[in-house]
Amino acid sequence: MLKITPYLGIIVIIVSIGGIFYPKLGYFLLLVFASLMIIAPFRGRWFCGNLCPRGSFVDFWLSPLSRRLKIPSQFRSMRIRVPIFILLMGFMIFRIINTEGLVDRIGMVFVTLCIITTSIAILFGVIIAPRAWCSFCPMGTLQRTLGGRKYQLKVDKERCIDCGKCQKACPMQLPVNEILDKPDCIKCGRCIEACPKQALSF
Ligand code: SF4
Ligand code: SF4
Ligand code: SF4
Repeated sequence: MLKITPYLGIIVIIVSIGGIFYPKLGYFLLLVFASLMIIAPFRGRWFCGNLCPRGSFVDFWLSPLSRRLKIPSQFRSMRIRVPIFILLMGFMIFRIINTEGLVDRIGMVFVTLCIITTSIAILFGVIIAPRAWCSFCPMGTLQRTLGGRKYQLKVDKERCIDCGKCQKACPMQLPVNEILDKPDCIKCGRCIEACPKQALSF
């Protein structure tokens, strides 16, 4: 299984800081949008757990600074996630319309979006848990909508001894062995590695 690496997190820093001086770096976000749109209908939020630069950033770079508290259940509620999705997408479209098609100005819209969302991810990542932002990130919501029921984690109830190690290992703090339907599972495989009974698989 492909695993997320710490190196991907560097891209977040390059786009957020380098993009201020060289706005074309913002176009990297289009590659991210395209990749997750192609993958999500078949593998749900797989991109989040294996390829997303910000996922890597929060998992490896932010994690040592995090208080690692419980992510509030409201963060996962669609009543919160849908308005955030509409707000951020509306902000992006409105700003792009006002760029008059200038390449650097469009790039700067993406850079601004990256800076805003990374700042929120850092804030919640430090005061709550590394993947707190990923519980309501608009791109996570989009992937969940496109393929949340695809490529589900399977639990072998015969083997499971209810030790809870999988839940402790889950960066999204999901009830790994309790419910079958996990549309916010990011397919990172950490629960599989943590299970002493090989009760989990994709
Ligand atoms: S939820 Fe958003 S920031 Fe988190 S890994 Fe997925 S796309 Fe990246
Ligand atoms: S349930 Fe397992 S694969 Fe899914 S996010 Fe949690 S640890 Fe990763
Ligand atoms: S780690 Fe494995 S055995 Fe333990 S609760 Fe999870 S699925 Fe069951």
